Amino acid sequence: MKNIFDNHNHCEFSFDGKRTSIEKSSRAAAKMGLGGLCFTDHNDIYAPEYTISHNIHATDLLDIEAQQKEIDRVQELLPEIKILKGIEIGMHPNCREEARQLIKTNSFDQVIGSIHYVGDTDPYFGGYYEDKDWKTAYGGYLETLCTEMKHLEDFDIMGHYDYIVRYWDYEQTDILYKDFSDIFDEMFRYLIHNGKALEINTKSYQNFNGRQSHLDTNVLARYREMGGEIISFGSDSHDDFHVGLDFAKYAAIVKSLGFRWCAHYEKRKLVQLPL
Ligand SMILES: [Zn+2]
Repeated sequence: MKNIFDNHNHCEFSFDGKRTSIEKSSRAAAKMGLGGLCFTDHNDIYAPEYTISHNIHATDLLDIEAQQKEIDRVQELLPEIKILKGIEIGMHPNCREEARQLIKTNSFDQVIGSIHYVGDTDPYFGGYYEDKDWKTAYGGYLETLCTEMKHLEDFDIMGHYDYIVRYWDYEQTDILYKDFSDIFDEMFRYLIHNGKALEINTKSYQNFNGRQSHLDTNVLARYREMGGEIISFGSDSHDDFHVGLDFAKYAAIVKSLGFRWCAHYEKRKLVQLPL
């Protein structure tokens, strides 16, 4: 596991990360024998009214200076693990320019671009799904992700494309390549052409209220067939005991499909280490 980095973690600097800390999660990663981890705290400049009425902190922006200072402190304590400075940018049409400015005017190791809200709905609270069948719901999310990442441009990792399976009880629990081949191909063309990573977000395959989604290996196989080589592992941890969640299992799957590298970024430059 020494070449694998957990590129997606939340800590005390995320509005929903108070259950762990940079120090606790970094110690957990070191104990597991990971090569490193990156703290990618939430930064959603826009959130729907409904979300804010349920959680006033949803649009709290990351205190970049404080987070990076704390990373420096913990890095001194734990030289055996590389601790990277990141951010998870919540992409939305209402804050495209602000997001780009924020990335441009700060320095990070890596930037994840994610969709947490679609239009004025919040899948986490269910509103997004109400008038949709599974195919429209999943497809709409993928389309939004594809559109917004092209607007953002300045990011490294496309975050959790399968976030949308987590929070509703459709019988169809998996996002399969065959159901969304056109949009997957479009996303992959963009990622490959621009040197960005496809994230395997292992949180998406956990049990959510009795439902479990599975990674469709055809998604990865197609990415590889099109020339995709940049795979980023992320646990999306909000607790120290979730750092590196199921990485051995997913690393084996990725390797069996012919991928040779696992990716992370340092100062926005791609680093590929052998799997
Ligand atoms: Zn996210």
